[in-house]
Amino acid sequence: MNENPALKIRLIMELRRQGISNTEVLSAIERVPREVFVPPTFQDRAYENIALPIASGQTISQPYVVAYMTQMLELDKMRKVLEIGTGSGYQTAILAKLCRRVYSIERYRNLLQSAEEAFKALKITNITTKVGDGHKGWKEQAPFDRILVTAAAEEIPENLVTQLANDGIMILPVGADPANQHIVKVTKDGKGEVTEEQLLPVRFVPMVQGVAEET
Ligand code: SAH
Repeated sequence: MNENPALKIRLIMELRRQGISNTEVLSAIERVPREVFVPPTFQDRAYENIALPIASGQTISQPYVVAYMTQMLELDKMRKVLEIGTGSGYQTAILAKLCRRVYSIERYRNLLQSAEEAFKALKITNITTKVGDGHKGWKEQAPFDRILVTAAAEEIPENLVTQLANDGIMILPVGADPANQHIVKVTKDGKGEVTEEQLLPVRFVPMVQGVAEET
């Protein structure tokens, strides 16, 4: 591990310039060491504002996208959050700093094991994970105040809309074509009425059906 405060400050300043204004989100990014979630080969690039490869052909998301999606979730310490696509666990750790509890689902068991080790090393205790297919959500723990999906679905998964609480917000990348994906904000009002809003264009790994057979 090789934390470099100057690189971290440079990243935070860049995120501010890019429009991340929520000070709690910026503070969470400052407090969670991204290098813990980045593979050894890319340690020196942990504070660049780019996505990086992790195991099983997946990626740790770009810090700007992590900050943007987190900001759009409008979190506070009361919230119960469902995350789909634990991956490295970096986004999960950021969420954990800003809400009551995160439930996170990943289809690769090996990724989940590394993520769990990182949470333990950082003494983060309000994360519950499981191996599963995120399309199904986590029925036993529903409803969720907030839902964040970090893999691109072809369409908004119906089960996740069902598991979103009234007055809830879900943020997810949507689009079958990797060249034409957008972050979508799904809002459920106090009466359960659902509205959708298309936000910025992005490029995420696809949300895949079923649990992964191999690593
Ligand atoms: N937030 C993660 C992003 C990882 S990439 C990070 O920043 O590290 C997206 C992750 O979603 C991958 O790990 C992939 O395996 C997982 N994924 C894809 N489809 C899924 C599904 N149906 N259910 C659960 N996880 C899924």
